Amino acid sequence: MSRSPVDRVLGQISEAEVVDLTCQLVRIPSVFRPGEPDADERAVARVVEAWLRREGFSVEVHEVAPGRPNVIGWIEGGTPGPTLCLEGHTDVVTEGDPAAWRHPPWSGLVEDGRVYGRGSADMKGGLAAAMVAAAAVRRAGVPYAGRLMVAALVDEEDAMSGAKHFVGTPLGRAVSAAIVCEPEQNELCLEQKGVFWARVTVHGRMGHGAMPYAAVNPITAAGQFLARLPELERRVQRGVRRSRFLGVPHVTPTVVRAPVGHVAQNNVIPATAELRLDVRLTPGVEPGSVLGALEDLARDTERRCPGARVAVEPVEAPRPATRVERGEAVVRALEWAVRRVRGGRPVFGGVPGSTDGTILHTALGIPIVTFGPGNRLIPHQVDEHVPVAELVEAARCYAAAAVRFLSRRG
Ligand SMILES: [Zn+2]
Repeated sequence: MSRSPVDRVLGQISEAEVVDLTCQLVRIPSVFRPGEPDADERAVARVVEAWLRREGFSVEVHEVAPGRPNVIGWIEGGTPGPTLCLEGHTDVVTEGDPAAWRHPPWSGLVEDGRVYGRGSADMKGGLAAAMVAAAAVRRAGVPYAGRLMVAALVDEEDAMSGAKHFVGTPLGRAVSAAIVCEPEQNELCLEQKGVFWARVTVHGRMGHGAMPYAAVNPITAAGQFLARLPELERRVQRGVRRSRFLGVPHVTPTVVRAPVGHVAQNNVIPATAELRLDVRLTPGVEPGSVLGALEDLARDTERRCPGARVAVEPVEAPRPATRVERGEAVVRALEWAVRRVRGGRPVFGGVPGSTDGTILHTALGIPIVTFGPGNRLIPHQVDEHVPVAELVEAARCYAAAAVRFLSRRG
């Protein structure tokens, strides 16, 4: 009896292999700590590279910064076709206080059907599932067109320099669609929030605290600006249709600083105050429109606080929210895969944070969908863990989606 290509591929995925690989990756700390030797992604990247080479992948390693290599592995179907990328990152956030953990953060311990440790969910579990899925396609020897790629990138948790580097390489530019393997409890996420960080600098005039009339107080002006921010936020929210998955956009002050650049003293009105805003965008809100509203508020604050000058600037290039349509081939392939593997309908969702996927989407103009094992709320917490059942399901879904996506004609 001949089995279908998808059955042959799924037959190559074992729970033990996905779990072992996840544990192995979790046990390699890969927190980036500037200035500390070997506190980077190099050790885990080396293991990923060796594993992919052993499985017969073509591999390229791109040194994004010293000790911070992107690893990209791929297999070719032999006939022309699209490139599907399974994307993950190798860095993890700090473990915080190890004593606060029930199991040591780098244990990679399996207990009660879960793998424990920093990065188990975010996202060495998803990366391991992607690696095993792609290897299963190769081992099964099924026919497909185009190329199946696994990209293990650095620095997602900070500046996303790995993704920014990747999209500038020939391999990155060849990607037709991507599945971002971040922990979203295996929900099929069609939307991701965008992000834009703004710095608001309020310039006043330094003076004696006893003689405020002889100074311009930037703190008072910053307070005026902050007091009007909720009204601005409501206007931004009213201007866009509420997203079913992501709700409404938010404009959140996260840093207040004054004085800036000199020592704080009780009797000195400082020259400058600084605010930082964390703006989270939903599909349909352009970063430029929020920036424009913030600039209007800056002019308004200057009118209310004579002598103060208020400057608004983005801290880095804004990343718009992303959205992919249900009819997009990569979504249809993944939806088909979930039905095939789970025997039921997928749950659709949205990513509340921002991932490497926003860079891939913005820079390459490709459809991205986010789908990966692990509770959405668990990343960056102590006692981070990923359910074994979700790990295996993710690997099976990636593999089935890849076969489906790469076997379509035209
Ligand atoms: Zn992540």
